[in-house]
Formats: sequence, C-alpha cells, structure tokens
Amino acid sequence: MLSFWERESSIRYDYIIIGGGIIGLSTAITLKEREPNSSVLVLERGLLPSGASTKNAGFACFGSLTELLADIRTNGEHTTLTIVEQRIRGLAMLRQRLGDQTIGYEQIGGYELLLEKHVDALAELESLNLLLRGIFKTDAFHVKNDKIAAFGFSEAHVRALVYSPFEGQIHTGNMMQALLHYALGKGVMYLTGAEARHIEETNTGAEVSIEHNRLHSTKQVIFEARKIALCTNAFTNRFIHDIDIQPGRGQVFITRPMEGLRFNGIFHVDEGYYYFRRVSSLEGDRILFGGGRNLSPETEATTDFGLSYSIQQYLEEFLRTIIVPDLHAQAKVEKRWTGIMGFSTNKLPIVKKTSERVVLGFGCNGMGIALGSVIGERTAQMLLES
Ligand SMILES: Cc1cc2nc3c(=O)[nH]c(=O)nc-3n(C[C@H](O)[C@H](O)[C@H](O)COP(=O)(O)OP(=O)(O)OC[C@H]3O[C@@H](n4cnc5c(N)ncnc54)[C@H](O)[C@@H]3O)c2cc1C
Repeated sequence: MLSFWERESSIRYDYIIIGGGIIGLSTAITLKEREPNSSVLVLERGLLPSGASTKNAGFACFGSLTELLADIRTNGEHTTLTIVEQRIRGLAMLRQRLGDQTIGYEQIGGYELLLEKHVDALAELESLNLLLRGIFKTDAFHVKNDKIAAFGFSEAHVRALVYSPFEGQIHTGNMMQALLHYALGKGVMYLTGAEARHIEETNTGAEVSIEHNRLHSTKQVIFEARKIALCTNAFTNRFIHDIDIQPGRGQVFITRPMEGLRFNGIFHVDEGYYYFRRVSSLEGDRILFGGGRNLSPETEATTDFGLSYSIQQYLEEFLRTIIVPDLHAQAKVEKRWTGIMGFSTNKLPIVKKTSERVVLGFGCNGMGIALGSVIGERTAQMLLES
C-alpha cells in the first residue's frame, strides 16, 4: 500500500521510459536536455540493466568491409551511408557527454579478418572507400596483410586483413555506469527491479503497471505519465505484437590472462558475426571473443540467456586454431555470458509512435555503442513533438 507521500511525489511523471539500456537512458537524457523542468522516470526490470547494453563487447564501430557490403546489398548505398553517418554522430555524442577517459575510449583501430569465404570482398574495397569518402574524407579501409603474421594469426586461415583507423573500443561497464550517473545528474529518476507488465492509455495520459516483490508477496504499483517510451529492445513484443523485432542471443567469453598476445584493436570476422579484442587490466591481457549466432539462427533467435554448448565449442576452437595458434595452450576460458540483442529485418532503426501516447525507440542492431545516443535523441524528439 502506498503512503500519501509516495502517491504525491513518486507516481506521476511527465515521461516514463521503459527499459534502462543505452537507448532508454539516452532518451531520458535528451528529454531532460530539451525540457529540463519535466519529470522523467526510467523503469528497468533487472537489478542491473539486463538486455544487451551491459553485456556487449565494447566495440565502438561503424561496420566492417563485409558487413557494409552486406548492408548495401540489403538497403542500397544511400541508406547504408545514412546509417554509417548516424553511427559516427552517435559515438561522438556519447564521447562528448561522458568523456573518453571515463568510458575508456581508445581509437586503436579496427580490423577484419577475411577468411576464404570472404576474400572476394577485397575486389570491392576501393569502390566502398570512394563511397565513404564523403564521410571520412580519406580511405576508410586499408589492406594490412603484413599484420597477419605480426599479430600471430593463422596464415593458413586468414587470407587478408583489412584495417580501419576510425574504429575504437570502450569499457562497457564504465560507460553504462557513467551514462546512468549522467542521467541522474540531469534529474532523471531510475528504478531497477521494476518490470513493466502492462501499459494502459487513459484520456489524459498512460499508466504502467509494475509488479514487485515485497516481503514474500507480489505487489502492483501503477505509475502514470503523459507519455511513454518503449526502449525494451528484444523484449518489446510483450507490449506490441505486430512489430519487426527479432531477438538474437550473443554468446561471449573472456579468457584467463595470457602472456605474449601480439594484437591490439577490435577485430571482426564474417560480416560481424564474430568479434574479438584484447582486454587489458592489472591482472594481464585477456581475449574477449563472441559471436556465432549464424551457426544456429533458429535456436539463437531467443530471449533466453542460456549458453549454447555447440557455439561455445566452436568459438573456443576458432580462438585456438585461427587467432592464437602459437599460444593455444594458454587459451583457457575464465568466464562466459550471453546478452540479448534485437534486430529488425533490414537492420535499420525503428523510431515511431505506436499509439497516441507511446513511442518506440529501437534498432541498434548490434551497434548500440555507436547508435544508441542518436536513437535515444530521435525517440525523445518524437515524444516531445507528438
Ligand atoms: C554479446 C553482445 C555483444 C555486443 N557487442 C557490441 C559491440 O561490441 N558494440 C556495439 O556497439 N554493440 C554491441 N552489442 C549490441 C549493443 O549492446 C546493443 O545494440 C545495445 O545495447 C542495445 O541497447 P538498447 O537500449 O536498445 O537495449 P538493451 O540494452 O537490451 O536494453 C533494454 C532494456 O529493457 C529492459 N526491459 C525489457 N523488458 C522490460 C520490462 N518489461 N520492464 C522494464 N524493463 C524492461 C531490459 O532489462 C534491458 O535492460 C552487443 C550485444 C551483445 C548481446
């Protein structure tokens, strides 16, 4: 039962954002920037954000050679260029808001390992560079095959290495902590353990019912707002059914510290389906490696956080034979986890009004570090305009 005081001060807001990942927080921040006197509440069902934003690999990327070529085949050149521009602008916004040091941003460059299957993509590198010149003002991609042996990769498997100086990495945990503090500093209210069950629109606004456990009994609390943003990513189907959002489970592991790693940077393989990087700390250098959704598209189109044994096995084998063949005996997995991404069919963002008082902000499509701030900005803009 709520007290008089709680009813007076904690239940009614101008805007409620459901989902406390990077898009939800970015939406809340833009709302407070544009309308500082408005009250904004973010509801997050997990104790910590529990979708993709705290689980990812920390690549600050705009798309590898094979990924961008695949995007052009699906969406055409103009749309692909627009989305690359949005990724670059989104990353700049994130860095500007939080500061490079706070989020551990390092522009150390990105590479793509081309295995036999994708080596033909080299034939299109020059034309892609030409297309991207309007954005980067210089070549975005360079062939660096001398680095294959220098980095210690298997020369039997890696046919070419493509470098982009514009990509970088962040510390995902520090970024999300900083984004939360930034939002709180703007006056955003953020509640965790608050799973939205139901949205109901009224004549004057909308209500969100939350269930929470209190002393062994489940209680329902109803929050009220003028407008609501749904930033629940892969979990949005609970609220809206006829929407083009497919879940995709991302499998990741990190190794124990290893001696003698020779590569640094972020590394993509196979249109972004695989990715790895070095993670350095006082304890030493580890490898974070993830991906493999494409090995079993049906089972990985899930919101279940469980691990898939066969994909983990495949990743380990890939790590030992292709990435660190000379150091394979040291390549021992320390920790495994999964995160749930959301994908639209054409990999483009979806920001739209789904009813009179509800706006959906979705569609980082596996590149939330770069895109999240921009999608949040667009979601907030639509809330303010509608
Ligand atoms: C393994 C992995 C690796 C990745 N690597 C990278 C990378 O290197 N670089 C990159 O740019 N991107 C990467 N991504 C993608 C990136 O993390 C996402 O694009 C981004 O985090 C999506 O942000 P979001 O806010 O849309 O969704 P999410 O972070 O999923 O946030 C949605 C939130 O809504 C909450 N929620 C859901 N339902 C409810 C409800 N009913 N009530 C209240 N709260 C609810 C969830 O708990 C969740 O916290 C990776 C993702 C994964 C899983």
